Order: sequence, then C-alpha cells, then structure tokens
Amino acid sequence: MILISSCLLGLKTRYDGEDNAHSLLMKYIHLGQYVPVCPEQLGGLSTPRLPAEITDGSGEDVLMGKRTVINIEGRDVTAEFIKGANDAKQIVNSFPITSAILKERSPSCGVHQIYNGEFNATLKKGKGVTAALLKEHHIPVHSEEELTDELLKKLLGLS
Ligand code: SF4
Repeated sequence: MILISSCLLGLKTRYDGEDNAHSLLMKYIHLGQYVPVCPEQLGGLSTPRLPAEITDGSGEDVLMGKRTVINIEGRDVTAEFIKGANDAKQIVNSFPITSAILKERSPSCGVHQIYNGEFNATLKKGKGVTAALLKEHHIPVHSEEELTDELLKKLLGLS
C-alpha cells in the first residue's frame, strides 16, 4: 500500500479548501492500494486554514526543535504540524505501507522543495515536516512531480 497526500486524490484538504487531484494517481485508485492522509488535518488544523511556512529552515529542523512553523498571521502552528507528522507515521506503522507519495512544496508534505518562510512565493530546497519524519524512519518518499506510469506501477507492485 502507498501513503498518499489526500489532496492528490481529489480530497479538498488544501489550506484554501481545494484539492490537487493527480490524474496518474487517480488512474489506479480502483486498486484500493492508497491510504490518503492529510497531516495538517490530522494535526487539528481546520480546512480551510491560513497558509503556513517553515521559518528559515526545513522539516528536519522543525523535528529537531530548531525551527517553527508560522501561519501568515504569525501564529505558531509547530505543534499541529508535528502532531500531524507523528499521526501519519503511526498510520504507516498500522498498515502494510511500503512508500509514500506526497505533495511537493507543502510545509508538511514537500519532498524536494518548500517555501522559504517569508510568504513571498520563493521556493528553496528542503522537506516538509511529515516528509522529513517519514524519511527519518526509512519510508521511501516520492513527490507527485517525479511520478511516471512506470514508477507508480512499480510502487504498486504491478511490475
Ligand atoms: S498537508 Fe499535505 S495532504 Fe494536506 S492539503 Fe497540504 S499537501 Fe495536501
């Protein structure tokens, strides 16, 4: 089974109440091999919610207590992001999940890139909090942007 950012499966869990439905992932949804998870909802944040970014650091820094996650109005939502990451890990431990496909650029789910923490639409290299925690626990984590039909079939055990 594959843990997947729920917004990629068409669920309207995004901060703005929208989704990021991904056509390639949807092609195989009938197989029942996906476990959809939204770490920010698991962490107790509402939907819609204010956008948040990691301040001058990465998901790894947040997990080490060196950086915080702040929403655009300046509220510290670090605890919610860490709870969401831990809950996602608990879900991985509760199902036969062998990999994760997460939404790029999210402060929770970003795999290769996140925003720089200044709310000025500038990206930088780094992982979101949940992606960092799963990686730390040796779960192979992929961005939806690197998916190909071949890779997805491999992750699903179809090839
Ligand atoms: S936290 Fe992850 S799953 Fe939830 S809306 Fe953001 S990118 Fe999607």
